[in-house]
Amino acid sequence: MRIAVAKGDGIGPEVMDAVLHVFSAEGTPLDPVYVEMGKPVYLKGVSTGMTLEARETVESLGILFKGPMETPKGAGVKSINVTARKIWNAFANKRVFRSLDGVDTVFSKAGIPIDITMVRENIEDTYGAVEHMQTHDVAQCRRFITRPGSLQVHRYAFEMARRQGARRITCGHKANIMKMTDGLFLECFYEVAKDYPDIKADDLIVDDMAMKLVARPDLFDVVVLPNLQGDILSDLCAGLVGGLGYAPSANIGEHICIFEAVHGTAPDIAGQDKANPTALLLSALMMLRHIGLFRSAARIEAALHATLRTQHAAGAAFPGTQAFARLVAGNLPPAADFAHLDNDPAKVFRVPRRPDQPRMSASPSPEDTAVEGADFFIESTDSAEAVARRVRPLLPDNLRLTLISNRGTQVWPSASAFTECVNHYRVRVEKAPGADTPARSSLFELAAAVDKEARLCSMELLLRLGDRQGWSLAQGQ
Ligand code: NAD
Repeated sequence: MRIAVAKGDGIGPEVMDAVLHVFSAEGTPLDPVYVEMGKPVYLKGVSTGMTLEARETVESLGILFKGPMETPKGAGVKSINVTARKIWNAFANKRVFRSLDGVDTVFSKAGIPIDITMVRENIEDTYGAVEHMQTHDVAQCRRFITRPGSLQVHRYAFEMARRQGARRITCGHKANIMKMTDGLFLECFYEVAKDYPDIKADDLIVDDMAMKLVARPDLFDVVVLPNLQGDILSDLCAGLVGGLGYAPSANIGEHICIFEAVHGTAPDIAGQDKANPTALLLSALMMLRHIGLFRSAARIEAALHATLRTQHAAGAAFPGTQAFARLVAGNLPPAADFAHLDNDPAKVFRVPRRPDQPRMSASPSPEDTAVEGADFFIESTDSAEAVARRVRPLLPDNLRLTLISNRGTQVWPSASAFTECVNHYRVRVEKAPGADTPARSSLFELAAAVDKEARLCSMELLLRLGDRQGWSLAQGQ
């Protein structure tokens, strides 16, 4: 079976060569098609970090096995790792954190086994964010969480949990603070959970989850998180099982899947034969099982565990990247012991069919939406009281000024004398009680009038969705 392989930057080529050595010793029926991605491609001036040929190869084969890649800093280019996940809709990032025999950790020494599978939403959130400077002093990040995206990742997490016989699935979030975005993620979690009554579904605020993961990691089974929180907690979980050298990951999409280690290019040890290839080898095992090479996966897994165990028992130092790969290859058990396992991708894997057009996902019966006001973001060094005095005369009868906030904290109509402000206000106007619903066009006309009084940076409409209010309150409101 042909798969696309990108060796990556930094320690990427070293760990990838180590894994490919194990494949070839095992006789794994894989034919790597090397593709150009990462730093050398950026240096050639290709801002996406991948050549057109690389993109076409991955799209035609459906599997990308990649080493870590570096995104040049300050060059204004986007991360190739994030781009690859996003353009191919690899929406779920599955990361497995399991105690390994032969890898000492605080928990292994205390006899506490760890087996946590994390599903991190992989496309949305701050990684799909749109960022802007609104004033010289104020930067903004619009963070999108969508219902179809959340339902898709939760559905994947529950299906996977059921397949692997998980007892518990826990959603991490910050819905107590980000009521609209994380609130939607959490709501979708419980919506999907209804279809899986056999699995205990619960949730934790992400900071509490971080503390509990460190205190009692053995109580967790499957955890599902929004993108940024999942990114942070997955490094925390890597620490629980011995570090980034032991943390594999799979980016799962409906058509294209990307397999890589959690770690980055480790520039501090690149080219020194010090990188541990175990994380990439564990990612390779996820890939082999995904494409139906169960026998190869089981043999390599047995060889890896035997190597870690014997190295540990001998009290041996890490022998170097390539020597470690040779030890694993030397520990491969006889193929005959695994003859009962299938090793045929044709039984499991389907090469992706190119969709005729991008799919549009939307709720089947969206609630009625009505515009009930707007938030205007303005640049001003005036006091909130002065801003209110200038904006109020501009308002038509059906709108009233309800709030001015600064950095999300209410500073008008009432404020604490201790609230420190920057030159950026949110000015909220809402439909007056009993008044007619404002026409959208009247809000845009009002935006132009506000801009004459103070520099308008951006605006956001306040929507009512069915009987739900689609905006949150300010702190102190
Ligand atoms: P990193 O994961 O590269 O390194 C963090 C620390 O872990 C370093 O001390 C490193 O030596 C160590 N480490 C990492 N992998 C190891 C291994 N296999 N064996 C032994 N030690 C290992 O994280 P970083 O330094 O924050 O990032 C370096 C670069 O990697 C950045 O350019 C970043 O953007 C990129 N990155 C890429 C990916 C990816 O390709 N998916 C992921 C994370 C970071």
